[in-house]
Amino acid sequence: MKKIPVGVLGATGTVGQRFVQLLADHPWFEVVAVTGSERTAGRPYGEGINWMMPGEVPTTTAGLTVQPTGLELDIPGDPPVVFSALPTSDAHDWEPKFAAAGYAVITNTSVFRMTPNVPLLIPEINPDHTELIPIQRAENKWSGFIVASPNCSTTSAILPLKVFQAAFGVRAAILTTMQAISGAGYPGVASLDIHDNVIPYIGGEDEKLQNEPKKLLGDVRDGRMVLADIAVSAQANRVPVVDGHLASVSVKLERQATADEAIEALRAWRPPAICAQLPSTPTDLLIYRDEPDRPQPRRDRDAGDGLAWTVGKVRECPVLDIRYLALTHNTLRGAASGSLLNAELLVVQGYIGNNHMH
Ligand code: NAP
Repeated sequence: MKKIPVGVLGATGTVGQRFVQLLADHPWFEVVAVTGSERTAGRPYGEGINWMMPGEVPTTTAGLTVQPTGLELDIPGDPPVVFSALPTSDAHDWEPKFAAAGYAVITNTSVFRMTPNVPLLIPEINPDHTELIPIQRAENKWSGFIVASPNCSTTSAILPLKVFQAAFGVRAAILTTMQAISGAGYPGVASLDIHDNVIPYIGGEDEKLQNEPKKLLGDVRDGRMVLADIAVSAQANRVPVVDGHLASVSVKLERQATADEAIEALRAWRPPAICAQLPSTPTDLLIYRDEPDRPQPRRDRDAGDGLAWTVGKVRECPVLDIRYLALTHNTLRGAASGSLLNAELLVVQGYIGNNHMH
């Protein structure tokens, strides 16, 4: 099979570099274009960037010239595909232009996550929300489209909520996150601020954590996004951890359940069948740990190649009904790998790569 050519917008940053690293050996995709700011544009990707991933810059990408973000990228494909790891303001300007010009834009950025006709997508949670794509195209008169992945902290909390919604119904959740430094991008939080400290503020994050679960756990009905009727209260904290967001969650259920029933529901969960067709899907997607001191970022973030949810400490909650801790890797499951899985889903569903796969 010929690989699907893709571009990476904002390829020089924390998430962009993850894309480049993950795409280097991907069975379905190959990077043919990378963009950066004025600072890095014009030089080979392998020079002039501060490579933060393990190992060297992949040789397949090192020789590509970093281009400014623009519609001249000339990526072949029907539709041509770009992954976006742009800063928010650039994403706001560029992602709709790419979609209007016929590109499939698979984005990590926050700008269009809550736009009703943009799928906010995690293949294990809501693969059917891609039904919004034809509606988005028609409403915007775009030949391309935008598909977004959620905030990295929403991602860490969401899978147990999905499981409990299906098993018992969920009415409300109180969510506290402990978020890694890499979530702030590079150079991110000043070392003198975060060392020996916890910063109880991440701009806009509490609101994202309160809004995005309602969309992820909602339904597409008659071509419209219907949000889940769940009240969420969230507080986000930055902690001195390099990678891995930990969420502490208490949940009010529709139908009461014991901790044992909740654990049983987590252990019995299986991903939607389509996930088995996605090449990046790891063997274990939801790992429940019985130890009283897990999950931990350093020990659990790389489970399932950084794509697994590690869940623990499910107990009855004396105030609401059930509480738990959940952890995911923020730049892998919460960003680049999550978007890559979204792209794989779009291939299987026939939205991209038509000339190659079908
Ligand atoms: P970052 O480390 O600051 O990287 C952003 C990169 O974009 C920089 O390297 C920057 O410049 C480059 N850039 C700036 N303007 C550009 C332009 N016009 N065209 C192309 N590239 C441009 O940030 P990040 O953490 O990777 O985040 C990227 C996006 O993903 C943000 O929207 C963020 O909210 C979102 N996100 C991040 C995470 C995470 O865990 N970090 C998780 C989910 C979502 P140079 O070329 O000068 O290096």
